[in-house]
Amino acid sequence: MYDYIVVGSGIAGSVVARILAEEGNKKVLVVERRNHIGGNCYDVQDEHGILIHLYGPHIFHTGDEEVRKYLSRFTEWYDFGHEVVAKVGDQLIPVPFNLNTLHMVYDEEKANYLEKKLISEYGEGSRVPIMKLRENDDPDVREIAEYVYQNVFLKYTMKQWGQKPEEISPEVTGRVPIVISYDNRYFKDKYQSVPIDGFTPMFEKMLDHPNIEVKLETDIKDIVEFKDGKIFFEGKEFNNGMIYTGAIDELFDCKYGRLPYRSLDFKFEHYDEDSFQGHSVVNYTVSEDYTRITEFKFLTGQKNTDGTTIVKEYPFAYSGKEGEIPYYAILDEENDKLYNKYKEDAQQFNDFHLLGRLAEYKYYNIDAMCIKAMELAKNLLK
Ligand code: FAD
Repeated sequence: MYDYIVVGSGIAGSVVARILAEEGNKKVLVVERRNHIGGNCYDVQDEHGILIHLYGPHIFHTGDEEVRKYLSRFTEWYDFGHEVVAKVGDQLIPVPFNLNTLHMVYDEEKANYLEKKLISEYGEGSRVPIMKLRENDDPDVREIAEYVYQNVFLKYTMKQWGQKPEEISPEVTGRVPIVISYDNRYFKDKYQSVPIDGFTPMFEKMLDHPNIEVKLETDIKDIVEFKDGKIFFEGKEFNNGMIYTGAIDELFDCKYGRLPYRSLDFKFEHYDEDSFQGHSVVNYTVSEDYTRITEFKFLTGQKNTDGTTIVKEYPFAYSGKEGEIPYYAILDEENDKLYNKYKEDAQQFNDFHLLGRLAEYKYYNIDAMCIKAMELAKNLLK
């Protein structure tokens, strides 16, 4: 009999399973409904031998030494400073908007004048929300805020979240920063990397432990019955622990209604060229139906590839249809209430723990997810 059943083999499930198995000597069954491990971090070589991220580009970025050290047990890293550009008109401008962007958008004289002004008012290296720029007396400074709003933020957000301009909260708009430095990196974290051989081998190593058994292509509901506050496994009541990282509404057959999500349609394209766009990620902030194009070889550092593979991301409203994947929880008061109803119902089960982006209806970066999983496992072993 297993001490724990872990539902899902994404970063949440895999980290928790490894710690329970290794540090607690617990027998763990990991149940995964896909035909592979790794959750949305999964990567694989396409038919041209190019390493692609099937569920969207993933970069491990963190400032947390402990999480970096923990995952480094299972992989070496390809480290880089992740940069993103946005296609605006004929230009590819660095985002977030920074001093390099300023010099690309304005003529030299005006850019120099604005740069001095921004540095003297807000300090070199600072991140200034456009709300603050809007409050500046100088109309030239206010113009920067307007430029960022129109060319970097507005249409991108409308596409990503399916919102009309009037639906976008001014609070969110106001928080969009401009960065007063020449640092083009997208994240501020000390470590910005991908596993050197890919994410999937990292997960394989993590789950490779004598106390862990992985069952692929199995939905937890195929082997477990959740009934009257009890869990039945192989016909018998299961009184040991379960960590559930799947969608919480699905666990209860969406009886209160589906939790809303944004989903993404990924369109992969291969080109017999050395490079398609010369950058890992180009955001389409004013044109096109897709939000961004990722060119994998620039993200993974893969050398000597035969051609190049890209992916375009088309956002849409998740409806729960077969094949659709819920990606981004839509966080508002109403959805919070709905989530809490399911969460209350989940509390009826003994030693049952909700963990992960789907079970907690929350956005997590990989590092934050890893920290949460480590905390849960350590608490369970106390
Ligand atoms: P998942 O990875 O979704 O894993 C859950 C697993 O549970 C899945 O494998 C699923 O098949 C399985 N499962 C669900 N229900 C069942 C069931 N009933 N039975 C059996 N198995 C089940 N984070 C970063 O730090 N850097 C990035 O660059 C980054 N890029 C991202 C890009 C996109 C497009 C998205 C959507 C997210 C990105 N993230 C990124 C966030 C990252 O994907 C999450 O932090 C991470 O996937 C969360 O892991 P998880 O284990 O909670 O969920």
